[in-house]
Amino acid sequence: MLLDISTKFTYLQNEKYSFRLMEKQLLTLVKQYPFLTLSEIGKSTQNRPIYCLSLGRGKRKIHVNGAHHANEWITSIIIMRSIEIICRLIQDKSVYLDVNMSNLLERLSYDFVPMVNPDGVELCVNGDINTYDLNYLKQLNEGELNFSRWKANIRGVDLNRNYNAGFEEYSMISEKKGPSYAFYQGEAAESEAESRTLANLTRKRQYDMVFAYHTQGEVIYWTYKEISIANAKEYATIFSKASGYSLDEPDLMAASGGYKDWFILHFRKPGFTIECGHGENPIEVTQINSILTHTLPILVLASKDLGKEE
Ligand SMILES: [Zn+2]
Repeated sequence: MLLDISTKFTYLQNEKYSFRLMEKQLLTLVKQYPFLTLSEIGKSTQNRPIYCLSLGRGKRKIHVNGAHHANEWITSIIIMRSIEIICRLIQDKSVYLDVNMSNLLERLSYDFVPMVNPDGVELCVNGDINTYDLNYLKQLNEGELNFSRWKANIRGVDLNRNYNAGFEEYSMISEKKGPSYAFYQGEAAESEAESRTLANLTRKRQYDMVFAYHTQGEVIYWTYKEISIANAKEYATIFSKASGYSLDEPDLMAASGGYKDWFILHFRKPGFTIECGHGENPIEVTQINSILTHTLPILVLASKDLGKEE
C-alpha cells in the first residue's frame, strides 16, 4: 500500500511553527478522531502546557517525543503529522507494512509528546521574551539576538543532557559550566520542569519502547554504553531497513544525559533516538514530507511485539 501523507492542516506559517499553532491542531485532531485523548502532563518553566496525545487501549505501550531541542522544532511537525496519518490508517482499517491497523487500538497504547520544550521553541522561532530578560538570553546566546540556533530550554539548560544517565560524567567533561544556548546539562539531573515532566510520565506509564525525535543525520541510535537489551538490536535492524536510516552508536559526549540513555539505563527496554533529516539545524522545512516517508514506518512497525508470536 502506498502511503498517503497528505494533510488537512497547515503546519507552517511563514515557514515557522509555533506552540500556539500546535495547540490548536491538537484540539482539532481530538475532535476529528474521537479515539484520541489529549492530556496536559505538566508545565514548562514559562507555564506553557506540555501536552500528551494518546491513542489505544492495549497493554503494549509506546512513547514518542519531539523537540527536546528548541532548534529541532521540525520534529514536532513530524510527530503531529505522523499522528494524523496513523489515525487515518486506523479509521480506514488499512493494512500497512503487514500491520493490521484496524485492531491496533486493542493491541497498543501510543503516547505522543510532540513538543517537550515549548519555551525554547518559541524563543528559537519567534524570539519570545515574555518573562525572561532579553539581555540575559542574548548573553547565553554568545551575544547573538538571532535565536535560531537555540537548543536549550528558557533557563539555558540542554534538556537532553539533563536526565539521570551519565550525568556526573558529562558534568566533568563538558566545557559548559553554566547556562547556555546549548550543551549545558543543568545543576542536577531532572532539575528542569520539562525533563522532570517527561521522566515522571515515563515512570508512571512504564513504556515498553520509547522514541526521541531529533535532527539531523538520518541515523538511529539504539544503545547506551554496553547495556544489553532484549530485542533492541532486532528492532533497530527492522527500523533501519524500513526507514533507510543507518544504525549508529553515539560517541561519549553525545551519549550522556539523554532521554533514551536514561530510559535504557533505568527501564532496560528498547529506546531509540531518531535523527531525522539532513543539513544544518534548523533543517529545511522542505524536508518534512521526505522525513515522514522515512520515519512513519518505524512508528507502525514498533507495534510488532517481538516478545510474542504475531
Ligand atoms: Zn537534538
